[in-house]
Amino acid sequence: MANSPAPWALIDREDVAPICPHCDNDLEHVLRRGTGFPLGQGRTLVYFCPHCRKVLGFAQGRVF
Ligand SMILES: [Zn+2]
Repeated sequence: MANSPAPWALIDREDVAPICPHCDNDLEHVLRRGTGFPLGQGRTLVYFCPHCRKVLGFAQGRVF
């Protein structure tokens, strides 16, 4: 963990659900699916809210 000091203390909490920034519902889980359009190399994964289905983020997957 050298050379990567976190500016805040990290606390693992499994009992607190994050809130969707779009619909303000609790996110007990998020949905993930591969998109049909590749962006660059690898598979693009999209994460989205199960309540309003708005996109929370993207990730590059290297799974083929
Ligand atoms: Zn939402």
